Amino acid sequence: PVFTVADIRKTFLDFFASKGHTIVESSPLVPGNDPTLMFTNSGMVQFKDVFLGTDKRSYSRATSVQACLRAGGKHNDLENVGYTARHHTFFEMLGNWSFGDYFKRESLKWAWELLTEVYQLPKERLLATVYAEDDEAYDIWTKEIGLPPERVIRIGDNKGGRYKSDNFWMMADTGPCGPCSEIFYDHGDHIPGGPPGSPDEDGDRFIEIWNNVFMQFEMHEDGSVTPLPAPCVDTGMGLERLAAILQHVHSNYEIDLFDALIKAAARETGCTDLANPSLKVIADHIRATSFLIVDGVIPSNEGRGYVQRRIVRRAIRHGYKLGQKTPFFHKLVKDLVQQMGAAYPKLAAQQERITDVLRVEEERFFETLAHGMEILDNALADGQKQLPGEVAFKLHDTYGFPLDLTNDVCRERGVSVDEAGFNAAMQHQKDTARAAGKFKMDKLLDYQGAANRFTGYEHLAESTKIVALYAQGTPVSVLNAG
Ligand code: ATP
Ligand code: MG
Ligand code: MG
Ligand code: MG
Repeated sequence: PVFTVADIRKTFLDFFASKGHTIVESSPLVPGNDPTLMFTNSGMVQFKDVFLGTDKRSYSRATSVQACLRAGGKHNDLENVGYTARHHTFFEMLGNWSFGDYFKRESLKWAWELLTEVYQLPKERLLATVYAEDDEAYDIWTKEIGLPPERVIRIGDNKGGRYKSDNFWMMADTGPCGPCSEIFYDHGDHIPGGPPGSPDEDGDRFIEIWNNVFMQFEMHEDGSVTPLPAPCVDTGMGLERLAAILQHVHSNYEIDLFDALIKAAARETGCTDLANPSLKVIADHIRATSFLIVDGVIPSNEGRGYVQRRIVRRAIRHGYKLGQKTPFFHKLVKDLVQQMGAAYPKLAAQQERITDVLRVEEERFFETLAHGMEILDNALADGQKQLPGEVAFKLHDTYGFPLDLTNDVCRERGVSVDEAGFNAAMQHQKDTARAAGKFKMDKLLDYQGAANRFTGYEHLAESTKIVALYAQGTPVSVLNAG
């Protein structure tokens, strides 16, 4: 059968509902329960407090399709977009959870049943990893499920330290943690890349599709672990990665949904080469930015809003690279709504607002983009291998080029950016501004003193005016500017 993304979502939820799971709505991209987390980056985020024991639900088994964002913050896949077959900034994670209910055996067996019997993936293409010390998971795979031992790979502490492993999950430095078992799909030896644990595991031949996390320990301050009273399961599978397999394509960017968005990006940019990586970036970023707007994140200069601005501007720059000199990006919102509006009614309902927010940001950036690109081109015109930090800073400060955008351009050209120089220029500007502010502030205090002392009518007039403004709450920066 050919599975559309809509079929895949429904099949997943139905399967776990049939195993006694409660279907839970996707939570917003901005986590409501965790100020330390920039964005919801996996399905478990909305259940975090349940695992910590500070929240209780009426169910002990849950399943969801969670909208996730991995840009800025702890997980950041922004730099992978356009380069790998498997990474997005925004993606959907299919998940199932046990809150002190079932554990490894059910979790792995159901995963296998769903993949091989329901979605009917060819068994011989599937591999699994387990944490090196997790004999229990290893035995379930090899003895109960019957995966040949050569396709069950033990991954030890490979990240430099005890429990620092791709297969050992931690919620934070302390708290719930445990081994995980990941399922990979072999897309075939015509694609470069090695199996998990090998030196070229980052290639796109063996693609990780599903992570099964077994929370069974609590990590303490001193790095020791003790068993949790009620072990939990947390799983996550990338919808787009599964769709690629089920639709017999290799890359996430070739699935039905992305095919439509890439064609829309081509239409709006006039690009005729559908394999152009810039189209993938634009298609990815229209999803991320639109869903962020739905959840209330609009472009700004700090925090989440700045991540939003960086993603929008990156997309615009890729359009510019394809020859697009006027706003185009906001025109893709309607195509996105066509693809995802049914699954996400809020997206459809806000189509107009999303379009407006993006158009305004685009109009603003197009005012400086061409000039900024000219400065960047000139700075590299003599074949330099590094972009000076001052230029990167000027682009940032005057032309609205976020540093990662400048990096993105330079990376395409095989050039590095002097980031230390950029930071120094930034610091210098801050110091100068502070010094100027201090100078004026000293003057202000002088005036204040003068007003108190009475040193003549002329002096008094100006000083009382400034002190009055200051007292009314006019910021010093504005007084300085006057
Ligand atoms: P990878 O090693 O490929 O970067 P990951 O180990 O970072 O993936 P997990 O944190 O284990 O991913 O997330 C669970 C699942 O979510 C992954 O197995 C994958 O299917 C999916 N996933 C993770 N990151 C992305 C992404 N950036 N885009 C699309 N799907 C993703
Ligand atoms: Mg990753
Ligand atoms: Mg991984
Ligand atoms: Mg993983």
